Amino acid sequence: MSLEVPLSQQGRCAVHPDLPAAGGTCFRCGSFICADCATSVPGLGVRLYCQACSVRPEVNYLEALRQRYWGKRDGWAWVVAGMTLLLCVATAAALAEWGVRATKESLFTFLLMLPIPVGVAFFLGQRWARHAMLVTPLVMAVAADFLHRDGRFLYALCVSLGLIFALRIHRDVRNQLFFRLPVPSGALKLLWNERFNNPMARQAARFGFSALFLPLLAPVAVICGVVALNRVDLKATPPIGRRDQALLGLVLGLVSPLLWGGVLMLLLTDRIHF
Ligand SMILES: [Zn+2]
Ligand SMILES: [Zn+2]
Repeated sequence: MSLEVPLSQQGRCAVHPDLPAAGGTCFRCGSFICADCATSVPGLGVRLYCQACSVRPEVNYLEALRQRYWGKRDGWAWVVAGMTLLLCVATAAALAEWGVRATKESLFTFLLMLPIPVGVAFFLGQRWARHAMLVTPLVMAVAADFLHRDGRFLYALCVSLGLIFALRIHRDVRNQLFFRLPVPSGALKLLWNERFNNPMARQAARFGFSALFLPLLAPVAVICGVVALNRVDLKATPPIGRRDQALLGLVLGLVSPLLWGGVLMLLLTDRIHF
């Protein structure tokens, strides 16, 4: 008698019935998974899930992050809305002041209106507006140069600033989530790390460095450092880290008053000598 389980009784992948369940069972739903279907989730160690479960927000914190921001306006959307509103006010004021005349200069007013539809579409989440934002400063600079040749340096400066802004927004992962664009999990992980991985520890380190120059900030650095150290939990899912930054803030916060106390003492003893 053989101890081997007959092939007909072996577990089969729930999705691919022709493949054996080499990946075992899904940690969440318990269904059999083949080697291809077995998926590990960042932050959850060696546990394996079926593909359907691995993207569920309650299993995958990166997926939860994606759903949290999916289609929701970010800070950039509001900045663009504010700038568009300012442009509307500026063009309205220019039209009220100078009216519509058939001069070359009055065409500048119309040039100012060019980014307004792009800004509105951006705020409303129209994907084409993301790309249009990169092109608009260039188009405006070329048109302005055509209207008035003496301002070339100013146009170049404006177009560079506009392009830097537009590129930053274009590459922003949080903004891409507002536009419901596919974002790789590596980029999501960076976003999570920046926003949710113990941000207090980063504050502590910042206050710690500032406290070296402004000793009044030392208590803030110490408090932030202690709070952040308490939040560190490497066994949590996902793990909360940044212990080094929390410690750095705490130590700098403690060192700064000693340093300044020493300097003060030196100055005072010098005074007594002379
Ligand atoms: Zn499952
Ligand atoms: Zn499978």
